[in-house]
Amino acid sequence: MREEIPDWRYLLIGAGPAAAAAAVAIRSCDREGSLLMLGAEAEEPYQRPPLSKGLWLGKDHMDDLPLKSPAEWEALAVQRHLGDPVRQLDASARMVTTAAGKTYTYHRLLLATGGRARRPRDLPPELATRVFTLRSLDDYEGLRAALRPGLEVLVVGGGFLGAEMAAALSQQKGLSVHYAVAGAAPLAHILPPVLQKEIGARYEKAGVVLHPQHRLADLSLEQDRLAARFDGVGALACDLLIYATGMEANVELAQQAGLTLRLGGVRVDAQMRSSDPHIWVAGDLASYPDPVWQVPIRLEHWDNAEATGRAAGLAMAGAGEPFTHQSLFFSDLYEFGFEAVGRCEVQRVLRVAAERGGKAAVVYYGEGSEVQGVLLWNLWDKVDTVRAGIADRRPLDDPFWRRSLEAW
Ligand SMILES: Cc1cc2nc3c(=O)[nH]c(=O)nc-3n(C[C@H](O)[C@H](O)[C@H](O)COP(=O)(O)OP(=O)(O)OC[C@H]3O[C@@H](n4cnc5c(N)ncnc54)[C@H](O)[C@@H]3O)c2cc1C
Repeated sequence: MREEIPDWRYLLIGAGPAAAAAAVAIRSCDREGSLLMLGAEAEEPYQRPPLSKGLWLGKDHMDDLPLKSPAEWEALAVQRHLGDPVRQLDASARMVTTAAGKTYTYHRLLLATGGRARRPRDLPPELATRVFTLRSLDDYEGLRAALRPGLEVLVVGGGFLGAEMAAALSQQKGLSVHYAVAGAAPLAHILPPVLQKEIGARYEKAGVVLHPQHRLADLSLEQDRLAARFDGVGALACDLLIYATGMEANVELAQQAGLTLRLGGVRVDAQMRSSDPHIWVAGDLASYPDPVWQVPIRLEHWDNAEATGRAAGLAMAGAGEPFTHQSLFFSDLYEFGFEAVGRCEVQRVLRVAAERGGKAAVVYYGEGSEVQGVLLWNLWDKVDTVRAGIADRRPLDDPFWRRSLEAW
């Protein structure tokens, strides 16, 4: 007898924050339609930001990670099939097949497969056990198990993840931490020189040995230690290396489906719909028009995953609206923290306003007098003000900015 293929009204591929937000949004307008979430990882949807911050510092605990309990998902009638990645997507048949051979058909599909950590190319097997990346809970647990007092650890990568991991590890007992960044300082692609200096000094105070202008060239094993060679500046030896040089979006299923790609992800419209009318895309994978400037963007941040997931879910359930949310990104390093909105690239800094003698600062980014991004350094509860200023296209010399952000 031929086995029946289960048919789903809503099928969500990926069980991260984007898919979780989409599921909740669908249920806010459709209580009845069958809904299944398929996840490669064994865990229920969970938070990733604590993996490089709070879990190391005792501010977060494993129990805090899940976005909802199994009972809460059941109450929403969101079914999950976890620990079994989807391997094939046949968009013309509207059918997916998992690694375990399970097959499902769908009416409406969400692709929210996020990304994977970039790994060094051609890593010899004898090095693989000493080189760590961090994307998942499994990665976190693997790294945690490998660390022990007395080890010399090298963190590579000047972006958010590298910066957070170097800070977190420098606060663990007995580790000696080296931190190599390709630029002049950690987060040099975002922070203006004055803040680069401040954060650089903080790492050094914490005992981290900073290696600026160090671009990793290759890795080898020498006398049972890992040797990391850097372009033109020699080598560093360590016991264990954390490779934090960004992620690659998981586009393979989108490619199988023949979706239009853009900026390393999948092109969608302002309601997160892809070039296939039955497929929506959200989270790190989605490249959508910026709600204010209309240029294509693709963001790899938590708030963006939740907001685009919610937008996709509403659209899938027939209640879509044009996406107007300006996503924020955030990070915490030692006692510093920041939140930012818009295009914040160091080469576009327009002005830095710092609290006299204090720790807070506001960085404005853009072109000419047009403010396209704002970073709030140790300054809280101002993100909505920033969003309003950017959406209203207030120029840099508009008193609004000083009045509402710089009233120290
Ligand atoms: C350690 C860490 C710290 C971070 N900290 C911050 C922070 O401080 N601030 C911030 O703004 N952002 C932070 N981020 C980024 C943020 O977590 C991501 O932007 C967000 O998780 C993206 O959500 P997503 O749902 O698009 O993708 P993901 O979270 O990557 O989820 C995608 C899910 O899809 C699954 N999947 C992939 N392929 C398949 C398949 N073929 N079949 C089934 N399932 C599949 C994956 O296993 C995964 O569970 C951090 C990320 C990491 C890794």
